[in-house]
Order: sequence, then C-alpha cells, then structure tokens
Amino acid sequence: MPRYGMAIDLRTCMGCAACVVACKVENRVDEDAFRCRVTQRSRGEFPNVHLEILSERCNQCSDAPCVWNCPTGASHYADGGIVLVDSGRCTGCKACLAACPYDARFINSRGVAEKCTFCVHRVREGLQPACVSTCPSRAMIFGDLDDPSSGLSRALGSRRHRALKPEAGTTPNLFYLE
Ligand code: SF4
Ligand code: SF4
Repeated sequence: MPRYGMAIDLRTCMGCAACVVACKVENRVDEDAFRCRVTQRSRGEFPNVHLEILSERCNQCSDAPCVWNCPTGASHYADGGIVLVDSGRCTGCKACLAACPYDARFINSRGVAEKCTFCVHRVREGLQPACVSTCPSRAMIFGDLDDPSSGLSRALGSRRHRALKPEAGTTPNLFYLE
C-alpha cells in the first residue's frame, strides 16, 4: 500500500493559481470556497528579505487531529493514507475545522466538511491530482513516500525541504522544496 505525499518546488512555483482553478473545476467546489489556495509571505530579516509564494492545501497529515476529533467517524484515513470525509456520516459540527492547524477545511453548501482529497478519484484511476497535472511549471510532485524510486522520494532525498507548521505535531505529508 503506498503512502501518498506531495512536494511543491518553491523555485519553480510562480503563484499563477492554475492549481486553484484546476481543483475547483475537477472537484466542483462551491463558488465561494477553495480546497487549495496560493498565499504569499515574507521570509528572512532585513535586508535579506524575500517573498515566498506557497500553494497550500490539506497536508494529509499522518497524525491528523481532524480525524481524531471527529465525533462521528466521518473523517477517516483511506487507502494510501489520504484523509477523507464520509459525507453520509458528517453532521457539519465543525470539530475538524477547529482541530486542523492548517485551516484546510470548510463546510460546503451541503453542510458537509470538505477539503483536498489528493483527487483520490483520479489517483485510483492511475492519474495525478488535477493540480499536479495542470501546473504549467511542473512545480508539483505527487507520489509514494514509501517508494524510494518515486519522483517524490528522489526529490525529497536530493533537495532541502520543509513542511509547514511542524510544531503542530501532525506529521504533514506536503513538503516544499527550497
Ligand atoms: Fe486534517 Fe488539517 Fe491535517 Fe488536512 S491538514 S489532514 S484537514 S489536520
Ligand atoms: Fe466529523 Fe463532519 Fe463534525 Fe468534521 S464536521 S468533525 S467531519 S462530523
């Protein structure tokens, strides 16, 4: 069984938001909601400051508080370690929204918690997530963290990288190549 993860190359991501649009179209996300987003933040200290552009989404955490705090079992781990929401069991109580340190979830127009699924419906068909397929600068790498020959493992093995908010202790599986 694979253990899916994703890496985004900060050198080549240009913040064009094609990933955001691809995600919305692929997953028919509500008009006023987003499963992924492009954010900007400054890093470093004056005079060595630079602007960092981040394509953000659910980190598919290996120790996910959204799962442990869901009172109904709607939030769960599926194949490949992907965190999903069973819409039939979700009551829209928002416990998972409060538990997620990454602000990765929202309640959709059907009253159900929603977030990035790594496009699990595509992955099960042997396809890449829509954002990865669409990225015009090929900045996103999706693959099996447990397969040392995967492009993802090789990128993480050869490039300096980091996850967001490691101090939250959720063991995120979304990485940024520096
Ligand atoms: Fe859950 Fe948030 Fe981690 Fe995604 S990023 S698995 S929603 S805790
Ligand atoms: Fe679980 Fe749904 Fe409540 Fe989230 S909103 S904790 S998925 S029942």
